[in-house]
Amino acid sequence: MKYRHSSAQSADYLRLALKQMTKQKAGLHPASYAIWYEYVANLNPALQAAIDTHLGDEGPLDDEATYALYDRYLAELDSKTALRIGDSVSQIVGQVSDSAAEAVDQASRYGSSLERWTDTLLRPVDSPGPLAAGVEDILRGTREMQGAISRLQEQLAESTREAQQLRQEVARAREEALIDALTGLANRKSFDLALAACLAEAQPDLSGPCLLMIDLDNFKRINDAHGHVFGDRVLAKVGQILRANVKGKDTAARYGGEEFAVILPTTPRGGAIGLAEALRALVFSSRVRRSGDKEALIGNMSVSIGVADYLGGESASEFVARADRALYTAKMQGRNRVILAPRPQPEASR
Ligand code: GH3
Ligand code: MG
Ligand code: MG
Repeated sequence: MKYRHSSAQSADYLRLALKQMTKQKAGLHPASYAIWYEYVANLNPALQAAIDTHLGDEGPLDDEATYALYDRYLAELDSKTALRIGDSVSQIVGQVSDSAAEAVDQASRYGSSLERWTDTLLRPVDSPGPLAAGVEDILRGTREMQGAISRLQEQLAESTREAQQLRQEVARAREEALIDALTGLANRKSFDLALAACLAEAQPDLSGPCLLMIDLDNFKRINDAHGHVFGDRVLAKVGQILRANVKGKDTAARYGGEEFAVILPTTPRGGAIGLAEALRALVFSSRVRRSGDKEALIGNMSVSIGVADYLGGESASEFVARADRALYTAKMQGRNRVILAPRPQPEASR
């Protein structure tokens, strides 16, 4: 998850982002704040590269370029949350600039009161009356300045707290957009992103990528026998087993309904079959408790798994379809088993 910065750290990023924002042609709006926050906090290398290229080729970002970058690199936020966050950020930025303007105003009044009394102060001290009045005036001006500056400081501290809270909301919204709520696994959207990223970097050799497509066996029957709520608990259990056993650069996802997928970017097919077999056995030996029924532990759930190892040049959908066909074969052969997708045979020599 992103945006786990301390309040002091995020305040630094806020300052750095504002500094960058004011150098652009675009307005100081939330889209601008979002991309520059990501930029200064080093959170989004692709966005950073795109901004650097734009600055180098075309100079400061205008509104159009800012929104284009925002849409392209940050827009997985659900739009309502983004709007709400946007409004709040605008409000914060507005408050900060109001307070800053007030401080500037006070400073200039202080400046002119100093000027007004310069002559008096430079005169030899023969008549203490006007001098004392001048000093009083200066003191009053100074107190007003101090007041304005401390209000500005309070305002900044408050804004920093609010910005922190907003960032947490952004992080949560973003996480929700990519994680399946029932199983805690990557959802279909993040599966698609992860598979595309994996294939873009794939160097087809003996060590992957490999893909597992996993489907619960006779799940309709489980739902019919014990109800949908229990069915959901079974899905959550499978999610738990996958999360516990698929780690690091590997991705476990809920592909849809009662179907799951695992991407193994650098695992050879022997390793992929081994993992698939281990997952199959773990599901088969697991028990799920029926809610409100302390005694009833239901077992005998099983999954069928199709494993494919990547063929160079294959598209993501072809890769998935091959693993799916192996999964179908596993179903046909009796379920609760792992089947490796066949690789195309080299043409027979005459
Ligand atoms: P097979 O072994 O051939 O896969 O049989 P199956 O019964 O698992 O397959 P089928 O496609 O006939 O049925 C899948 C069932 O999964 C039907 C659907 O109601 C259920 N299902 C899909 N998503 C959910 C869910 O989120 N929760 C629950 N409880 N059930 C779901
Ligand atoms: Mg099924
Ligand atoms: Mg299915």
